[in-house]
Amino acid sequence: MRKIEHIGIAVADIATANETYTKLFNAPPYKMEVVESEGVSTSFFIIGDSKIELLQATNEDSAIAKYISKRGEGIHHIAYDVVDIHAERERLIGEGFQAIGEVKQGADNKWVCFFHPKSANGVLVELCQERSE
Ligand code: ZN
Repeated sequence: MRKIEHIGIAVADIATANETYTKLFNAPPYKMEVVESEGVSTSFFIIGDSKIELLQATNEDSAIAKYISKRGEGIHHIAYDVVDIHAERERLIGEGFQAIGEVKQGADNKWVCFFHPKSANGVLVELCQERSE
C-alpha cells in the first residue's frame, strides 16, 4: 500500500454536506458522481495530497443507508491506494482479512474492493487502484 487515498464520510444529505465541506476547505468538490451499482451519490474534495469522499445513499438498500440508520453520519471507510489491487486483495485474504465482494468499478475512476470492518478493528477498509484504460 502506498498511501491513504481518501477517507469516506457517510452523510445524510450530500447537498448540505457539500456546502459544509466547501466552507471547511474553502474550495468546492472537484468531482461529483453517482455510482448506481453501489446506490451512492458521491462528491470528492482534495486537500493537498489527500482526498475526502462524501457518500449519500440513493436507495434504502445501499450500504450507506444501512450504515447511517445503524450508526448515524460519520467516517465510513479509509481507502488505501495500491499498485495491484488483485494481488493485494489476495494477500489480505491470505492474512485472514474478510473480503466483501469482488474487485469492482468504483467512483473517481478507480478499481475498488472492500474488507469487513471486523477484520480491521471496526474500520471498513477500501483498496483502490487508478484505472488506466
Ligand atoms: Zn471510498
